[in-house]
Amino acid sequence: MKKYIIHGADILSFDPARPYLSDNALMVENGKIVKIAPYGDLKDKNCEYVDASGKILMPGLINAHHHFYSTMITGLGKAAPAANFEEVLRNLWWRLDKKLSLRDIYVSSAISAIDAIRKGTTSVIDHHASPSAISGSLLQIALAVKETGIRASLCYEVSDRDGFSIRDEGIQENLEFISEYGSGQDDYLKALFGMHAAFTLGDDSLSKISKAVHALNCGVHIHAAESDSDQRYNLEHYGKRVVERLVDFDLLNSQSILAHGVHLTPKELRMVADSGAAIVTNPQSNLNNAVGIADVCEMVKQGVTVGLGTDAMTMNMLQELRVGLWAQHLKQENPSAGFMEIASTLLFNNPIIAQKYWGTGHGMLTEGANADMILVDYDPHTPLNSETWIGHLINGISQARVDSTIVGGEFLMWGGELLLGLDERELRAESRSLSQALWERF
Ligand SMILES: [Zn+2]
Repeated sequence: MKKYIIHGADILSFDPARPYLSDNALMVENGKIVKIAPYGDLKDKNCEYVDASGKILMPGLINAHHHFYSTMITGLGKAAPAANFEEVLRNLWWRLDKKLSLRDIYVSSAISAIDAIRKGTTSVIDHHASPSAISGSLLQIALAVKETGIRASLCYEVSDRDGFSIRDEGIQENLEFISEYGSGQDDYLKALFGMHAAFTLGDDSLSKISKAVHALNCGVHIHAAESDSDQRYNLEHYGKRVVERLVDFDLLNSQSILAHGVHLTPKELRMVADSGAAIVTNPQSNLNNAVGIADVCEMVKQGVTVGLGTDAMTMNMLQELRVGLWAQHLKQENPSAGFMEIASTLLFNNPIIAQKYWGTGHGMLTEGANADMILVDYDPHTPLNSETWIGHLINGISQARVDSTIVGGEFLMWGGELLLGLDERELRAESRSLSQALWERF
């Protein structure tokens, strides 16, 4: 379908100027939204028509911090118990990522991308690590992204933790991928420079990365102050806090993403705001790892653009949003606090972040934007309008089934059925056997 009109659905546009539209229809042509207008004004005999009555039409959701490879361990818990965040990394993630093969990376990415389509998430900003299979790892993820039809921004997380030769391989992997996808010519795949965290990167590494980032004119994607131990390590070894070190090496710019930021001071938050970088909060992961609850209200107060990611806990962004809101109530010890601060992370700020990579209007239903959209089965039993739409998203639509997922105007799922060229059953069977083998090597 090159040109079509979707009609009959209530539209939640995520456009602050007109967030809720009833009796409107939306025209798609060549992968873009070309018109949104009352249905009667939009008839076109050269168009196909999609009847979406009884559904909500809204933008495809954006996950601003993810790890595709985590899909390999869903449901498994064979790592030694962890008493703190460092042990979570040492007992699980840093043992697991060393065992990943290139095939594990492709299969886990494809499974995760399919899950994204089912949950209505159409753009994913990923952060990858596989120290024993670095070279070509981002191309494996890219292949899975292309084959499933979603959009993604990829990076390889550089770290000193496995020695300098592996660090240098990580730098090289970023350089090669950014030279292919960093220019913005590919509509679907984008690139950032990945860094693990300041506590696993010495000054020599920060200096090398800074040179590369300036030569390539790209942003970085790094875990920052996820746990208080990141701050303690940097203060002890470098006499500086996390953001101070990153700023000293001129590593933050308007393309950059800091994941978590749970333990940043107001001064560091102002430094992030001044650099134009965004912080991406991941509430379910922070609760799971017992590292604290990010003070999103303070971040907003200090002028930071705060987006929402899941850190691989889920591909259901509305579920992450709900938990984020409740966690903020607890953080502020006030059940009314943070409603707009938290809602804005997913609904308004993730589009602001994603538009830096995917262009104007991305993540919103607006004329000229990429036609990345979802239809959700939701027939409201209380009034849905421009005053209540955010409450409906958090408390109602988050519980409803995603019916259809569209990226670049193409239907990747229709009526709950995937429309992909991949054999999902075969892929899942291979994933089970790869996951079993991975745990035997663990
Ligand atoms: Zn992460």
